[in-house]
Amino acid sequence: MTATNLNFDPEALGRKYQEERDKRVREDGNDQYQEVTGEFAYFVEDPYISSELQREAVDEEVEVVIIGGGFGGMLAAARLREAGIDDFRIIEKGGDFGGTWYWNRYPGASCDIESYVYFPLLEETGFVPKQKYTNAPETLEYCHVIAQKYRLHEGAMLQTEVTSTDWDENLNRWVVSTNRQDSIKARFVVHSNGPLNRPKLPAITGISNFTGHTFHTSRWDYKYTGGNSHGGLTHLKDKRVAVIGTGATAVQCVPHLGASAQQLYVFQRTPSSIDVRNNKPTDPGWMNTQAPGWHNERRHNFESIMVGGQVKEDLVADGWTEAFRLLFGNLRDKAPSKVRIAMWALTSVVLPDLYKLGLKQYLTKKVTDFMNLDREMELADYQKMEGVRARAEQVVDDEKTAEALKPYYRQFCKRPCFHDEYLPTFNRPNVTLVNTDGKGIEQITSDGIIFDGKEYKVDCIIFATGFEVGTDYARRAGYQINGVAGQSISEKWADGLSTFHGMHTRGFPNAFFFGPAQSGFTATYTYSLDEQSVHLVHILTEAAKKDAKRIEASATAEKAWVKTIIEKARLTADFQEKCTPGYYNNEGSVNTKLQNNFYGGGPIEFFSLMKKWRRKGGLKGLEIS
Ligand code: NDP
Repeated sequence: MTATNLNFDPEALGRKYQEERDKRVREDGNDQYQEVTGEFAYFVEDPYISSELQREAVDEEVEVVIIGGGFGGMLAAARLREAGIDDFRIIEKGGDFGGTWYWNRYPGASCDIESYVYFPLLEETGFVPKQKYTNAPETLEYCHVIAQKYRLHEGAMLQTEVTSTDWDENLNRWVVSTNRQDSIKARFVVHSNGPLNRPKLPAITGISNFTGHTFHTSRWDYKYTGGNSHGGLTHLKDKRVAVIGTGATAVQCVPHLGASAQQLYVFQRTPSSIDVRNNKPTDPGWMNTQAPGWHNERRHNFESIMVGGQVKEDLVADGWTEAFRLLFGNLRDKAPSKVRIAMWALTSVVLPDLYKLGLKQYLTKKVTDFMNLDREMELADYQKMEGVRARAEQVVDDEKTAEALKPYYRQFCKRPCFHDEYLPTFNRPNVTLVNTDGKGIEQITSDGIIFDGKEYKVDCIIFATGFEVGTDYARRAGYQINGVAGQSISEKWADGLSTFHGMHTRGFPNAFFFGPAQSGFTATYTYSLDEQSVHLVHILTEAAKKDAKRIEASATAEKAWVKTIIEKARLTADFQEKCTPGYYNNEGSVNTKLQNNFYGGGPIEFFSLMKKWRRKGGLKGLEIS
C-alpha cells in the first residue's frame, strides 16, 4: 500500500493526531485525579450487599492466602485445587466472587472480548456462553459456576478487607490482618487485587459543592435510577443526568441513560473509538465440535494476532483483529513474488516445524525488514480508524456532534470500544454531547456543571471516570505490604517497579503478585491471569518437593529482569509517546519510569518465556530455603 492509493493523506492525518494529542497532555498527569477517601469515601461503599456480614474474628494458620476474589484469585484457587493444594483462604472485600464483575454492574455492562476467549476454564466447566460477547449478569453467573466447581466458598472470607500483610521473619510467614480483626498466618500470599480496582475522581473545582445525587459507575445506584444491568432505568424519567467521561464504561451505559433520562448530558474530553459489535448467539453445537485444547488455542491465536504475529487463520475475526487482517492483506498485495512465498511459508502448514527450527523468527525478520512493517502497520491503523470515523459520520445526524465523536489517535492508544447503540444515542432529542475538546470540565456548582461559560443544571452526576493506574501500589490495593526488616512495598517501589517475572520482589519472600506490571499484558486479561496461576502452582509444587519454607527472588535475577523490562519497553515507547494521554501511557508521560511497564515483547513471547523457564526446572532466579 502506498500513499497514492489511499483515500486519505497519511501525513496530514499524522499531524492531526499529534495536534489532538498535544492539546490533551497535562502537566499534572495522574495528579489531575483524586482519591475516593474522606468526604468521597461513599463512592466506594458496596451497594450490592443486602446486609453487612456479622462474624467472629479469625485467628489461624494456613498455607496460602489469596487476596482478591476476582478472576485472578479464582483462577489461582482453581489451579491450586487441581494440584491438590487445598489449604488456602480467599479474602475478598465484596459480598461475593466476581471482582470487576461484582462491582461493575452498570446498565449495559458487558465484555467485548469474545466470550469463548474471555471466559477462562471453559473446557473444565463445560459452560457455553449464550453469545459471542457476554454481558455482566452472565459473567457473574459464570463466576459462581467456577466458585461452585472448585468449592471456592469453603473458607472464603467475603466482605472482608485486608488492612496489611506483615512478614514475620521468625515464623517465616505472613501475618494477614483485616478490617474484621482477623489475623491469619500464611506461608504464601497471592496478591490479586485487580489492576483497575480503585475508582478515581477528577479533581474538578467545586466537586464537593454539588448537592444533587452522585455515584461512580462501578457502584451503580439502582435504588436511584431504577432498572438493572439490562437497563430500564425508570426512575430517571423526570431527571436531568450528566455523565462525565466517554471511555469503555460510558459507551456501554450511555445508551441506557439516553433511553430513560428526561435529559442526558454526556461530557466528553476524548472520544472513544466505536467500532461494530455485531453480537450474535452461540451456535449451541459449536463447542461440542471443538477438539480438546481448543480454548487455549483460540485465546493464543487471538493474542498472537494482537501483537502482529502471523497465524494460519484468524479464529475470532472481529474488530480487534481487523487492523491486522488489513495489514497482512495490504502486504500480500504489495509484496513481490519472493516475499509472498516467504509469507506463505510463514502462514502455511510447514510453520510448526519451521518454528521449532527457529526459522520462523528469521523469516519474519527478513520479511518485516523488507516491508518496513512499522510504517505499514501505521498505514493499516489509519485505514482502520478512517473506517471508525466514517461510521460516526454515517450514524450521527448532527454534523458537529458527529465530528466531535471522531477519535484521532491510533486504535490501541486507548481501549477500543465496540458498540452498536452508543452513536445512535446522540440522535435522541433528549441527549446532548458536551464536547470539551480535550479540556475536560472546568467547574461543578451546587446544581450543575460549567463548561465554556455555560451552566448545565442537573439532578445527578455519574462519574464514568475510570480507575487508578500508576499510583502507589498500596494505595490502589487498599493495604500495605511490609516485608523483611519492615520495608514496605511503597518504599521498595518508590523509584520504580522492581520484580522478577512481575511476580516476585526481593525482600518480600513468599509473596506472589498477579497483574500486568512487568508481566504479560493481554487484551484478554483472564488469559494472563490464568498463565500466572499456572506459573504460581508450578512454583509452589516444586517448592513443596524441596520442602521449601521460603521462596525469594535473587538480587541478580531481579536486576536482570528489570533491565529486560526497560530494554523491551523502549520498543514500544515511541508508539506510546505519540498516543493521546490515558492510563495506557501514564497520562502521556511515558518515559519517566520505563521499568513500570509490562513486558514489551508482548504476552505471547512472555508466556513462552515463562513456559521455557518452567520446563527447564530448578526455579532459576529464586532462592529457596
Ligand atoms: P477510562 O479510564 O477508560 O475512561 C475515563 C473517562 O473519563 C475518559 O473518557 C476520560 O477522558 C474521562 N475524564 C477523566 N477526567 C475527566 C474530566 N475532568 N472531564 C471530562 N472527562 C474526564 O475508564 P472506563 O471505566 O471507561 O474504562 C476502564 C477500563 O475498563 C477500560 O479501559 C477497559 O479496560 C475496561 N472496560 C472494558 C469494557 C469492555 O470490555 N467493553 C467495558 C468497560 C470497561 P480522557 O479520555 O480524555 O482521559
